[in-house]
Amino acid sequence: MKPLDLYTLVLMSAFICIGMSTIMFSVHRTFKSEVQGVGHWAWAQLMTLIALPILATQGILSEYIAIPGFNGAMLWGQGMTLIGTQLFYGQKPTWRLFLLIWSITIAGLLWWLVVTPNFSIRVAIYSLTAFGMYCALIRLVWLYGERHFSSYFFMALLLVHATLTLLRGGFALVFGGTSVNLLKTSNLTTTYLATSTILVQLLSVVFLVMASRRLKDVLEQRAIEDPLTGVLNRRGCVAYYAQLQLHARQTDFPVTVLAIDLDHFKRVNDQYGHAVGDQVLVFIVEKSCLLLRACDRMARFGGEEFVVVLPGTTQAEARQIAIRIQTTLKHAQTDLPLCTLSIGIASNTSADDDLDHLLVRADAALYRAKNNGRDRIETDDIIPADNATSSAS
Ligand code: GH3
Ligand code: MG
Ligand code: MG
Repeated sequence: MKPLDLYTLVLMSAFICIGMSTIMFSVHRTFKSEVQGVGHWAWAQLMTLIALPILATQGILSEYIAIPGFNGAMLWGQGMTLIGTQLFYGQKPTWRLFLLIWSITIAGLLWWLVVTPNFSIRVAIYSLTAFGMYCALIRLVWLYGERHFSSYFFMALLLVHATLTLLRGGFALVFGGTSVNLLKTSNLTTTYLATSTILVQLLSVVFLVMASRRLKDVLEQRAIEDPLTGVLNRRGCVAYYAQLQLHARQTDFPVTVLAIDLDHFKRVNDQYGHAVGDQVLVFIVEKSCLLLRACDRMARFGGEEFVVVLPGTTQAEARQIAIRIQTTLKHAQTDLPLCTLSIGIASNTSADDDLDHLLVRADAALYRAKNNGRDRIETDDIIPADNATSSAS
């Protein structure tokens, strides 16, 4: 078998790096706030692109520039993938540790290049650092990665590349550096270079798959979330109620909703401005959510209208929760101009009651609370059988 020459390999890799970094920079620019770390992966591609011509021009460039230049750029690129992945998983980037390891490695390479020249040890040092970085990446994905095929594939690719890297270091120590010298065209070196190139590019593609899955999650979450307060919007509330309905059909448990409307909220806006009005809305939501259980959901349906879904809760229990919300807000320590709340309560009469039907009844109760003077809680007239029992007990 005739080995591929170094220049063909370098040229092929360079074209792929240019394409991949362009794609990654474009993804990064478009979805900067949604998915972190893609920009660092794009920089990693650029670092490889810088390293490749240095490798190809060895023999022309002085080895004192080419060797630390090539290895430094490659390791820097690898570090960028590590930092990028840390950012992707919302972890603090370990810049200092990376810079320390990078500097020690480059210092080691320079020592065994200038002071006591030894190619085998240089390959071993480089391989060990690269192997360590791959292990750190595998650890990251293992700890924080989504339990999905893309993460497992990503880890498998990393494992293969880490093993190859370690093997090259081991080969250099056992059989001497010449056997793995990338500049000496042989079946072993070109296979290593070609496999490395393919693995690195595959890793980038799989990282982009993981990024696109993250983007899908973020956009799905946004579609059901109120941007001001962070609680569910109407769509999210409908989806959550539908989920509860499935459960309610099996267990026949009651679902009660609170329809909340702020009293004379327009005055807050008129007197203090819309921005303060927004702060009041956020404050009220934060305080109210603290009083709810993990299974309860608050949703913002309109300007200053909220719905709280209380699974497995009777009207009597819901009234207690509503009183707690009202009193907590009345006694809240804040400089914000808080307003009182009117609350209407309704429970489902059967598991088949849809949310719209339930909300019509909760809104009717809320309307009564407003008409009866505001800052009140009114309950829907239709009390389901199990709720009535519970209320009486
Ligand atoms: P009532 O007691 O009858 O409910 O009186 P109200 O003033 O609260 O009710 P109304 O429905 O007349 O006014 C609601 C106000 O909520 C009108 C609007 O200025 C304000 N609003 C709606 N959306 C927002 C928002 O996102 N931010 C702020 N700051 N105000 C909003
Ligand atoms: Mg209002
Ligand atoms: Mg209103």
